[in-house]
Amino acid sequence: MAKKDNVISLEGRLAERKQKEQAGTPQPLKPTLTPIPARLVWLHCPACDTTEYTELAVEGGRTHKCGALVEEAVVEIDLRAELTLASANLDRIEALRIYLDNTFKHFDEYRKRLLLMCSEPPPLYPVNPDTLKSMPVVEVDPFGMMISDALSNPRRRFGKSDEDK
Ligand SMILES: [Zn+2]
Repeated sequence: MAKKDNVISLEGRLAERKQKEQAGTPQPLKPTLTPIPARLVWLHCPACDTTEYTELAVEGGRTHKCGALVEEAVVEIDLRAELTLASANLDRIEALRIYLDNTFKHFDEYRKRLLLMCSEPPPLYPVNPDTLKSMPVVEVDPFGMMISDALSNPRRRFGKSDEDK
């Protein structure tokens, strides 16, 4: 028991010390989520009819590589909002990339296994708008993947559902 008491009192002292340290150090300011004004400059070459953007404003305009004077359109932006959206989109793309990679591996493996069941690859049914009606598709996922009855929810074949995993 004495040992346990020691442990508790040591923990207590550490917590006390931590509290004192925190009281002494200035707390970091809470980040303020106010808009950050910035400018995005759209550039258009009237000769080439190309459009691009830049973060750099140039005094007195600029000349395109073709020699024409470039038209500029300045857009006032909230830098924080633009950065938030670009980052969220990149996160989404990364998630999609992982999804696509996993899904590709899944169906590639399945096709290899199916090909092992036959001596040579047979001609395939045509894939068209009637495919869903004429083949045993039980699910089309948000990305258009057609899931057959044979692949779908294998646990149900053992009297289990996906929920009781
Ligand atoms: Zn040009």
